[in-house]
Amino acid sequence: MEEIEEVWRKLKLTDEEDCPIEVGQGVHGSMDLKGRRSLIGKIISERIIGREVARSMMEKVWKVGKPLEFQEIGGNCFGITFVNRSEKMKVLDGCLWLFDNHLFVLLDFDGGMQPCLFNFDHAHMWVQMLNLPLSYMNKQMGELIGSSIEKVMEVDVQEDGSAWGRCLSVKVECDLRRSVARVRTIVVDGRTSWVPFQYEKLPRLCFNCGRIVHGKEGYKESEGSVGQYVVWL
Ligand SMILES: [Zn+2]
Repeated sequence: MEEIEEVWRKLKLTDEEDCPIEVGQGVHGSMDLKGRRSLIGKIISERIIGREVARSMMEKVWKVGKPLEFQEIGGNCFGITFVNRSEKMKVLDGCLWLFDNHLFVLLDFDGGMQPCLFNFDHAHMWVQMLNLPLSYMNKQMGELIGSSIEKVMEVDVQEDGSAWGRCLSVKVECDLRRSVARVRTIVVDGRTSWVPFQYEKLPRLCFNCGRIVHGKEGYKESEGSVGQYVVWL
């Protein structure tokens, strides 16, 4: 969709085309009401997925009681309307969602934004940090390691801030154009060790560079990276 804007910018407009049409507040009418129970979603896949296929699959995945409304906005991008706002919020707050192993990125509805400006480059993912010493399985540690990935949204801890268990789970906003983080190296009391990551749900990613989303230029093979992520998966 961004390409269209680029083409338009090169055009020399006629006076008629360039004359602004003033749009008053009343024009959006009752669309805001529908927007309150709607989301925008995009399936990250090279394959084009039809509206009906997407709808019936996601109704099952999201376990919604009433039928959803799916409208096609662009390639694999849909306007999704729920029967009420609470169903929508339940889905928006839950993460992460997959369509047949492909990532389904969701954005809250913003009726004033042009579709070419929708940004599907980020998603919230639950990162499970393994092999941490028990004394360090806490909120501060989750925030410390999580912030090396990107913005930490939540650390799954008990009321006292601790999280003894198999792993420390941290919800992180991830940039999908960067390689999925596999591990971090930490130094505790002078001792260096690895903290391997697992993901609650992991969408299909590039086996060579570990990205979920490739940029416009696509993947450029760099030496030594071939198959690096097959080994990890
Ligand atoms: Zn790649």
